Amino acid sequence: MKKILMLATGGTIATLKTGEGKIPQLTSQELLRTVPEIREICQVETRQLFQLDSTNVHPDHWKQIARAVSEAYEAYDGFVVTHGTDTMAYTAAALSYMLPGSRKPIVLTGAQNSISERETDGRRNLLDAFLYASSACAWGVTIVFDGQVMLGTRAKKLRTKSYHAFSSIGYPELARIRDRKVYPVLPLPAGLGRPQPALELDPAVFVLKLIPGVRPDVLALLRPAYHALIVEGFGVGGVPYYATADFAREVGAWVEAGKVVIMTTQVIYEGSDMSVYQVGHQIKQAYGVIEAYDMTLEAVVTKTMHLLPRCPDLAAFREQFLTPVSHDILLPAGEEGPL
Ligand code: ASP
Repeated sequence: MKKILMLATGGTIATLKTGEGKIPQLTSQELLRTVPEIREICQVETRQLFQLDSTNVHPDHWKQIARAVSEAYEAYDGFVVTHGTDTMAYTAAALSYMLPGSRKPIVLTGAQNSISERETDGRRNLLDAFLYASSACAWGVTIVFDGQVMLGTRAKKLRTKSYHAFSSIGYPELARIRDRKVYPVLPLPAGLGRPQPALELDPAVFVLKLIPGVRPDVLALLRPAYHALIVEGFGVGGVPYYATADFAREVGAWVEAGKVVIMTTQVIYEGSDMSVYQVGHQIKQAYGVIEAYDMTLEAVVTKTMHLLPRCPDLAAFREQFLTPVSHDILLPAGEEGPL
């Protein structure tokens, strides 16, 4: 029997109702007791890392999870992390960079309803997470939810209430789980092993979502406080050129100050292509802003936090950012590596 370590961190799956709304309170042991079948699949040990609504989870908590996995890596065959769904995709993407290329599975799961309720997806998701973590085809950092196994770099929460809350964006699911059986979709990649933990992160990253009429002066105000700017643009990407306001010049001032500027899109599927329109082409040519192509916003944000402390200059950052990790980015031919 495989030996799995369960790390509990809170989330709806562990909530009880209170007069002030739902609060995570059920412990890792209590969660486990609601699904006795898990003990028939594998040997389980549990640890309660923290007990939070994932709204309150931040980069220090990602480090806590990564450290716990790394310290226990040799002693277990896999890891199941129970977590709130609201920021689960950020945690999963962050762990993909902090614990890269893991042969042993690190599986995140949670639920839209508490496991203590009669109507819940919690029991199924928890059982599925252990089924996948105990299977021979499991690897890397994944989210298991509603029968899907999604790469941590590709999963995104798309629904606030229904059980089919997550989708894998721009990359196939690794496996599906039906009737307590795991059906692999993709083969195991080569080159997996024990990950070298990379725990240092720089959270000084700002995401600016463009709206029609956005004023560029906000960029000058933000610049001193941040090391990287991620602009969530429209469509395939670009910045507005209003007669009254030079947005590109303000973005350029970040690059000239040695800060990282990344352009991504607020459209969920299919990614950016800044070569298509003048509004994208110009700013890429003039300032060499980095294009995120089809990465999820969660992957862009956490990869940036991960790379900032590791890259001595913008050229090194660009090269590392455009180097795929756990299938996080698909690049058009000719765009690989540094410009
Ligand atoms: N607010 C909750 C959380 O993210 C939602 C959930 O878990 O589904 O912790």
